[in-house]
Amino acid sequence: MPIAVFGHQSPDTDAVSSALVCAGLLERRGQQAKPYRLGPLNPETEFVFGWAKAPVPELLTRLEPDQPAFLVDHNEAAQSLPGLATQQVVGIVDHHRIGQLSTPAPILLRTEPVGCSATLLLALQREWEVALQGQEARLMLAAILSDTLGFRSPTTTEADRRAARQLAQLGEVEDLTALEEALFAAKSDVSGIPADALLKMDFKVYRFGGRPYGLAVLETTHPASLLARKGELLEAMREEKAKSQLAGIFLGVVDILSGTNQTLVPSPEEAQLLERLFGAPVHDHLADLGDRISRKQQIVPVFERHLS
Ligand code: MN
Ligand code: MN
Repeated sequence: MPIAVFGHQSPDTDAVSSALVCAGLLERRGQQAKPYRLGPLNPETEFVFGWAKAPVPELLTRLEPDQPAFLVDHNEAAQSLPGLATQQVVGIVDHHRIGQLSTPAPILLRTEPVGCSATLLLALQREWEVALQGQEARLMLAAILSDTLGFRSPTTTEADRRAARQLAQLGEVEDLTALEEALFAAKSDVSGIPADALLKMDFKVYRFGGRPYGLAVLETTHPASLLARKGELLEAMREEKAKSQLAGIFLGVVDILSGTNQTLVPSPEEAQLLERLFGAPVHDHLADLGDRISRKQQIVPVFERHLS
């Protein structure tokens, strides 16, 4: 049975691209592997796969009980395929915090605090001495630009910049600025998307102190058009909180160009929590989190420290 390779729920460009590339690298290393995604493509990822002329991985809803799984761009059960058993996991390539990770057998584990999973896959491709296709290089380059917000995110490392330069060459991409602008335009073009789908576009559940919290992010070059929909977004947040029995839910609207984060909070509980954790006063369901634009580096660790 082929190894199923997939990224997190609410997949982003890195999650889908890294699944496709990782499955290709494993195949060239002599293993049977097939890439998947756990949800619909967001508008940016749809643009990227069209631009790179790459086949979109199939949707995965369940695995066979004994089918091996390889996780990219995540490692936490709460963000993975529902019902996934740790015994099935044979590999992880990721750049997020480690959740509760325990496996019965040795696995291939590659995690580093870099800006993108694709950066780690390029390193593995070199170590394994297998080929990389131009199409794969273009997907990886787009994933790095997407995850690092064009190298603006504090998660960006020298390894990401170096990988992007090498991938631009391999993928024959001459104009990085044009690609970045096209990515941001696709990311920000969400006017036709209903509020509940917007909330789930980049939505992750984390367990802090044993309780589940939903942390959504929307990165955009036009925060005003999203904030104008505050009422319906708050309503979608309240529905999701009740449906998934979350202890709290937050939606960060990140302005890519100014590098700032305004976070929506549906109730006084979340407002009090944000004030306590970040010293950010909440006015009218909106908290100014300043330059905290990286969920994994500037938001999640603060929640973890205070709530666990
Ligand atoms: Mn991701
Ligand atoms: Mn990533």
